[in-house]
Amino acid sequence: LRFHELGLDDRLLRAIADLGWAKPTLIQEKAIPLALDGKDLLARARTGSGKTAAYLIPIIQNLLQSKMSISEQAVRVLILVPTKELGQQVQQMIRQLISYCTRDIRVADISGRVDVSAQKPILMEKPDIVVGTPSRVWCHINQQTLCVRDTLQALVIDEADLIFSFGFEEDMKNLLCQLPKIFQSFLMSATFNEDVKALKELVLHNPVILKL
Ligand code: AMP
Repeated sequence: LRFHELGLDDRLLRAIADLGWAKPTLIQEKAIPLALDGKDLLARARTGSGKTAAYLIPIIQNLLQSKMSISEQAVRVLILVPTKELGQQVQQMIRQLISYCTRDIRVADISGRVDVSAQKPILMEKPDIVVGTPSRVWCHINQQTLCVRDTLQALVIDEADLIFSFGFEEDMKNLLCQLPKIFQSFLMSATFNEDVKALKELVLHNPVILKL
């Protein structure tokens, strides 16, 4: 299978070509068509498997498609990560994948290098995609500098097996209460531990489970 067989926007295909990726990795081959079809995914995938692009490519594709019919700028995708290092990596990968559509899709990483108040003006511009730790995301939702109740289309929890043990359980539960009823969810995890099972119950609806 090749990337151009997945029905992706030409701008996304050009960005993928610039990255020098010849074909989808195994997880991408399985996950992208399911995610484009709107399915919730629980994927067991390690760093190095191409797991980040496995959720980012369909998310960006879906954003490009829905943007044509929606005029109001809003936060539509939340990507929750356990560490600011991962947040930075995810943001960097997004920037590479959207390099041909920077006017249509904007991203902000609030996983925490700068203080909360400095992030407020960034969030006021309502970036389409927000990447952050559960604590920062909850902090902004609580202060009403981030609102996703009416607009969220997709939620990702990356390295889900680490989220609770890194101390984010309460923030996670708080912020999940502020999300709309319906959105697409992705849980990415190296292992399926008890915490992942708990998160699965909290965020996934009839997920497809990929064990790779
Ligand atoms: P990840 O598992 O998401 O941390 O990705 C591991 C590495 O694989 C990253 O450096 C990506 O740039 C790279 N990568 C992702 N998808 C592909 C692909 N389809 N072909 C080659 N490299 C890839």
